[in-house]
Amino acid sequence: MQITFWGVRGSYPVPGAATVRYGGQTSCVEARSAKGDCLIVDAGTGLRALGNKLMREATGPQRYDVLLSHVHWDHIQGLPFFSPAYVPGTRIAVHALLTAADELQQVIGGITRHEFFPMPLEAAPAQFDFHQVEPGVEFDLGPFHITPIALNHPFGSVGYRIDCDGSSWAYVADTAPFDQVIHKQHFLSGPEPLSADDKVSLLAMREALLRKLEAVDTVVYDTHFLPEEYAKFPHYGHSTPDQALDICREAKVKRLVLYHHAPSHSDEMMDKIAADYLAKGAAIGIEVLTSFEGMTLPIGPEAEADAKREPERTNPGIGPA
Ligand SMILES: [Zn+2]
Ligand SMILES: [Zn+2]
Repeated sequence: MQITFWGVRGSYPVPGAATVRYGGQTSCVEARSAKGDCLIVDAGTGLRALGNKLMREATGPQRYDVLLSHVHWDHIQGLPFFSPAYVPGTRIAVHALLTAADELQQVIGGITRHEFFPMPLEAAPAQFDFHQVEPGVEFDLGPFHITPIALNHPFGSVGYRIDCDGSSWAYVADTAPFDQVIHKQHFLSGPEPLSADDKVSLLAMREALLRKLEAVDTVVYDTHFLPEEYAKFPHYGHSTPDQALDICREAKVKRLVLYHHAPSHSDEMMDKIAADYLAKGAAIGIEVLTSFEGMTLPIGPEAEADAKREPERTNPGIGPA
């Protein structure tokens, strides 16, 4: 199995001179089995370029599976610009954590309402199917075995452990650490004192995450904030690389990939973050890589640590702009 990063930013896209090397598109990762099966995780603006690549590969209508962590803008904004959505006969299955699949359809359909976009979802030539995922309820998509994991984020989020070809990786975004309650409606009012029930529920969430991450080959983690930034915005629902390192150390994970970078982090800042945490990780036996747009990473015990850059070609996509 291998994974490729098509968008590594959180919150909103920031293409521009300050982000050319790490990239400015929002959350989107592609997993590939050894036989070439494709699985898409999150549909931020990075999905647009991935869709164009899939179009170049496709010989006819295809089926694509998209796992969503949650439906904040930076994780869904690429969907209307996903070129395969404009191919008749193509099926796009969207899997996400919501109270019901029809609620998910309303959310995705909502962003293509005529006020926002020229073509409503119902009119797209491809067929969309919506599926609800539940933390702890595992399922298979082709050769991929999927384990959804509850995360601590305003109004909820779900991470995924993905096993395939005898190797595994986990996508842990978006999440805050597990010592403040924000997975419920506390976001608007800011951090609140923990009740006894909150403490128990957060501890259980952390324990479940640790169990699912145990022995995973590579963990991709929301490390949006530096510690000093986190101190200012502890209720935003994101983590620091130090918090991700703690989780990986406890789960005995050997490789951590920093991901969901703050839009304010320029290439220069990212170089420093990458170097600092490479050293911090090495000191405790964890290889820390910093994701960038176009990075392809082989997953598995024998995988090379070296990331290869996959250059994006410039073919325009099809479908409404
Ligand atoms: Zn996000
Ligand atoms: Zn979010």
